[in-house]
Amino acid sequence: MTRTHEVLNQPPPLADYDVFATDRALGEAVRREGAEWAIDRLHAVGRIAGGEGIVWGAQANKHVPELRAFDRYGHRVDEVEYHPAWHMLMRAGVEHGLHASPWREPKPGAHVARAAAFFVMAQAEAGFGCPISMTYSGVPALRSTPSLAKLWEPRLTSLQYDPRNRPAADKHGALCGMAMTEKQGGSDVRANSTRATKKGDHWELVGHKWFCSAPMCDVFLTLAQTERGLSCFLVPRWRPDGVKNAMHIQRLKDKLGNRSNASSEIEYDGAFAELVGEEGRGVPTIIEMVSHTRLDCCIGAAAGMRLGVAQALHHASHRAAFGKRLVDHALMQNVLADLALESEAATATMARLARAYDDAQGSADARRFARLATAVCKYWLCKRAPAHAAEALECFGGNGYVEESPMARLYREAPLNGIWEGSGNVICLDVLRAMQKDPSSVQLFFDECLAARGDQRIERSVGDLQRELGEIADIEGRARRVVERMALTLQASLMVRHAPRELADAFVASRLEGDRGLAFGTLPRGTAVDPILERAAVAR
Ligand SMILES: Cc1cc2nc3c(=O)[nH]c(=O)nc-3n(C[C@H](O)[C@H](O)[C@H](O)COP(=O)(O)OP(=O)(O)OC[C@H]3O[C@@H](n4cnc5c(N)ncnc54)[C@H](O)[C@@H]3O)c2cc1C
Repeated sequence: MTRTHEVLNQPPPLADYDVFATDRALGEAVRREGAEWAIDRLHAVGRIAGGEGIVWGAQANKHVPELRAFDRYGHRVDEVEYHPAWHMLMRAGVEHGLHASPWREPKPGAHVARAAAFFVMAQAEAGFGCPISMTYSGVPALRSTPSLAKLWEPRLTSLQYDPRNRPAADKHGALCGMAMTEKQGGSDVRANSTRATKKGDHWELVGHKWFCSAPMCDVFLTLAQTERGLSCFLVPRWRPDGVKNAMHIQRLKDKLGNRSNASSEIEYDGAFAELVGEEGRGVPTIIEMVSHTRLDCCIGAAAGMRLGVAQALHHASHRAAFGKRLVDHALMQNVLADLALESEAATATMARLARAYDDAQGSADARRFARLATAVCKYWLCKRAPAHAAEALECFGGNGYVEESPMARLYREAPLNGIWEGSGNVICLDVLRAMQKDPSSVQLFFDECLAARGDQRIERSVGDLQRELGEIADIEGRARRVVERMALTLQASLMVRHAPRELADAFVASRLEGDRGLAFGTLPRGTAVDPILERAAVAR
């Protein structure tokens, strides 16, 4: 056995590390964007994410959730059974306030601190981020209806993870889901056919939802038609009288990735519901939730890219081929440095965006900027993540393609943030809508880009964009071009202002000035790869 099975040249797993402490770009971003006070907490989350969280993530994906629609006597129970590892992830997330900390402690930097914690934990496992994110995002939408917020907010913001399937009165902590998408249309929610009928002090819903993730949540924000149009409702799993609500899980989706998380199809069969916000104003009400989940798509995409770079660099530093370590080969250096630049820019972008949510508490301009920048960044970061994951996986060779490596899971997860909460085209159209509705937000966006004072490359890019936006005749067909350019200009500005000069120059040359090919690993001649790789390495 040992004569033929000596294990040589196989890297040690990247494990038992503090994901936060070993990420220079993230540490700097957290300090810069106003969340220095959260550093100790982030180390605690970082140790979980680089330690037992890795094991939980693997287990929760291997032993996927199962639907138990009926009990042994035929009673409908609509329960999803999870592996204990799922609950460990959820408990860690809730106890560290990833689902609620800015609402519990609304202080400067609160959204940045939470974004960083979410970014760190998502590197252990992304699937559990779904109910965590929906709960975080549900609170601001719920606040439009104080009576509902009074009942649910203390539970939704509790640090106690309480997975028991019980009525509100028995619950210490609760989680919030979202059910908008129907069979006939997801992006076009106006096509929703679920009907709501008023019954005294509440409403009853009849209809179906084609995607409803984390169906063991305690409440769901959902859309349904009334006589006044599409409206937003809160549907609890249990009615206030303690009876199980008529919300039935039909089946669980068999998904490409995100397998630890259950996503279901559900039916409302006269389900008890309460109106959230104004009747007929369902979309503006639920948009409060959607804008926060879109922020989390940005954070999740950036987290995936950081994980890809950390893993790929680690592997390449320990594996040799053709007489030297992979990381010492010039072409591999170009690939890794290109991946690292993308990750560095994504980290800076998500942190800046999260600060806009902090600033938005007291500034209308910050709210406008956040509205536009969230859509721009959601499009671009989510668009980059799958290509980035594929290339990072390839750095492992065959080892990247097997399920035991974290890369296969990362790769299968990567397209998801680009689909939910608005897929690419829909988000680009949303950017156009946001700019048309509030032209002042465009100037705020450019002001942010131009904060890299005197950088002519960025000024040129802003000028080009302004010209492009001036010609609106066929803008819809050009929306991806415009949004991509906006995102790159913002990222370039952040890099120029905050990243070491070699990184900023390489980013601007390759992304803004186009001196590169279409694949990763095509950084221009003369790029200083050493400082890029040194900075991106998991520093221990
Ligand atoms: C794993 C997973 C979990 C999910 N969980 C939930 C959940 O918990 N709750 C929930 O409500 N939904 C959920 N969804 C659904 C998701 O939000 C929708 O799939 C998404 O919004 C897209 O809707 P759709 O699938 O109907 O696609 P469609 O709306 O049919 O879109 C198909 C394609 O057409 C493009 N398109 C649409 N309109 C236009 C246009 N005007 N111009 C150009 N292109 C256009 C889109 O960009 C997309 O590429 C989940 C999806 C997945 C994959």
